[in-house]
Amino acid sequence: MIKKYKTKDREKRREYEKAWRAKNKEKLAKRREENRDSINEKMREWKRENKDKVAASAKKYQEKNSEKISLRKKKWKEKNAERIWLLDKQYREENKEKELARHKKYLEENRELILQRTKDYRENNREKYLKSSLISAHRRLAVKKNKPFLWGHDAMDLMFEYFEYKCAYCNLSPHEELDHYVPISNKHTPGWVPWNHVTSCIKCNRGIGGKCAKHPDDWVAPEIRVKIKKYFQLWFLVMGQLLRNGEREKCNIHHNRKTH
Ligand SMILES: [Zn+2]
Repeated sequence: MIKKYKTKDREKRREYEKAWRAKNKEKLAKRREENRDSINEKMREWKRENKDKVAASAKKYQEKNSEKISLRKKKWKEKNAERIWLLDKQYREENKEKELARHKKYLEENRELILQRTKDYRENNREKYLKSSLISAHRRLAVKKNKPFLWGHDAMDLMFEYFEYKCAYCNLSPHEELDHYVPISNKHTPGWVPWNHVTSCIKCNRGIGGKCAKHPDDWVAPEIRVKIKKYFQLWFLVMGQLLRNGEREKCNIHHNRKTH
């Protein structure tokens, strides 16, 4: 009898309850606050007993609100970037061998994919890649010869612009190689620093090779020497300005820790 009544008037009853809840909002909130612990405990208990239901409803919620969730995640990550970085660093330090093994496994399993990706990157960023490979090749040389290394993309761009992508010596042929104005074999060389690097064509660079025992100031034509010296002075101005602005780290364009 009761059951029948319940089913029959379910909708009506629901509406009545809803209205009552809306009317007694404050009273309910107060009651909830008073019984917070026991309510939470009951909720936890229910969740423990109905794991499947909980998982299903979580999945449903995730599917329905995927955009909202990913946005929230993104915001949280942005807000906690430093914390995440620190935790990540700590984890990597504590699990060095595990991480290394994981990395190795990944490389082995995805060999083809990585090779393809590298190839694609090189093709799409040809100029950048050529610069990078030139920089790393020279860094290796600097480490090998135990000389200072201060060199990077920005420095290279400035050099190219100043010499208009042409050889600094003949001012005719396009730039082909990087030349040390005072050769590395010369005892007065400042090494791998922007104020010792100029653009060069192969012909001039190879020709210079034979004269490397002499200081270039002794054989480079005067008008060319003036242009090159002006370029080097430009570098001292740039570095001086950076130092005055307190931007010391920018001066270490690509710092070689081994030699400093
Ligand atoms: Zn030349």
